Amino acid sequence: MWVTCALGPYNFEFMTEVHREILRLYKVEGIFTNRWAGSGMCYCENCQTNFRAASGMDLPRTNDPQHPARRSYILWRQQRLFDLWRLWDSEISKINPDARYIANAGGGATSELDMKTIGEMAPTLFADRQARRGLMPPWFNGKNGKEYRATLGRKAIVGIFSVGVEEPYRWKDSVQSDAEIRVWVAEGVANGLRPWFTKFGGTLYDRRWLKPVEEIYGWHYRNERYLRNEEPLARVAMVYSQQTATFYGGEQARAKVEDHTLGFYHALIEARIPFEMVHDGLLDGTHVDRFKTLVLPNIAALSETQCRQLAEYVRRGGSIVATHETSLYDEWGVRRNDLGLADLFGARFKGRIEGPMQNSYLRLDHPHPILRGLEDAPRIINGVRRVDAEPITKPAHNPITLIPSYPDLPMEEVYPRIEKTDIPEVFLREYGRARVVWFPWDIDRTFWEVMSPDHGKLLVNAVEWATDEERPVMVAGPGLIDVTVWRQKESLAVHLVNLSNPMMMKGPYREAIPVGEQRVRLRLPPGRKARAVHLLVSGAEPRVEESGGVLSLPVPSIAIHEVIAIDLA
Ligand SMILES: [Zn+2]
Repeated sequence: MWVTCALGPYNFEFMTEVHREILRLYKVEGIFTNRWAGSGMCYCENCQTNFRAASGMDLPRTNDPQHPARRSYILWRQQRLFDLWRLWDSEISKINPDARYIANAGGGATSELDMKTIGEMAPTLFADRQARRGLMPPWFNGKNGKEYRATLGRKAIVGIFSVGVEEPYRWKDSVQSDAEIRVWVAEGVANGLRPWFTKFGGTLYDRRWLKPVEEIYGWHYRNERYLRNEEPLARVAMVYSQQTATFYGGEQARAKVEDHTLGFYHALIEARIPFEMVHDGLLDGTHVDRFKTLVLPNIAALSETQCRQLAEYVRRGGSIVATHETSLYDEWGVRRNDLGLADLFGARFKGRIEGPMQNSYLRLDHPHPILRGLEDAPRIINGVRRVDAEPITKPAHNPITLIPSYPDLPMEEVYPRIEKTDIPEVFLREYGRARVVWFPWDIDRTFWEVMSPDHGKLLVNAVEWATDEERPVMVAGPGLIDVTVWRQKESLAVHLVNLSNPMMMKGPYREAIPVGEQRVRLRLPPGRKARAVHLLVSGAEPRVEESGGVLSLPVPSIAIHEVIAIDLA
């Protein structure tokens, strides 16, 4: 009935006894706990004594992650929770070796426990993202799948979805629309989550959710062989960084860190580029070399080791697209004198972050592949903040340069004081097969806030230029579609989730609005041929052409979700 201190004897002693009792009395396969990590900061006598013994300091009274006591507390609390996790897991498996302890934990950059450690400890995990809250497109559920898989790999990850309207007033006996339930789950499944619905209470006041949930599970059961994924075939991956959110972002982590990720994420969805996510604690070759390009959306806090890993990745032929303050801070969020990736970016920090800028622009100097689709634009809007930087060696061509802010009122004053500068707002470098792009400004965050299509084009052009190879799957046609592509033992599956809906950006779908024909081009694995091709949702038999290891087919229409399943010969 109460949320107790998570870090003291209540959990370590009393709850350990409770778990033992459950395991001795009942044949359970495991224990999953919610709210096990407490609720915010605790100043109880146990926390005071234990923190002082561990750090020699009093509990922090500030949220500033640069404060020594706060920094120590963040690390100590994490250590205590992982100790608790290990204790419960070992006590549970002592009684039943087949049972495990599973914490409700994990998430993206702003989640508090280190995902790399969780990925090592957890035998399986449950992404507890039951429904939208606030402004949340359905692809947020797919993003959960990518974030969890980044550290859990092929371990089973379950996406918990609720059928009710959740936040912020928690109507636990309510029902979402049929279309909203379906698109949320489809996003999870397309991104490697196994569906698990949750419903509080056993009395059904409103039965409208039963049919869509029954149909989701029926479909999942019938098509299971094409959902047993071995690996995603994406060639692009986006890095997420909990240390950047914690130590650089602090209390502003959503705006300073996560909004950059969301902007870049949305741009890649719009461009239909299949991509994965990578944890910044796993930048070694085993984890990143299967990708041609790593995207770093304002990954500001990077250690010397991480910077070296990225440089080695580029030396091995990997490409990088980075934005804003990436690598300007060390792993504790302390600003460096120069960018940690200065050599890679070919840029030198001039000591100043400018912004918020008002009425500032970017001058485009055509032609350049990074400006594709903008040929008729002499200039576009700038972002809001920029890292003041200069090239280490002057490039032959600066495709994007700064037009500094000028007055936006009164009208008589609205003219640029400087029409043309040689201050680059993109740094482009080539190292053999590898290409490096750095935008010193907050292009991805501004895209999330303002949604200028010009910024979306630049982000995608940068990824395309850096990747410099044909995508594993090309999907052409109208609408907004999330594209993922997977390999199973003897098959491939391309998921197309139709997000085209006037309710997309907030998520309260009223109905599925089918999107028109999509033309799909898929590169088959070397030496393999397609034995059969199925559309797993519509059941239609597509007209398939195969030549030179490339499969082409039309997908006539997609209501919410379609899966192209290819049996390999
Ligand atoms: Zn406490």
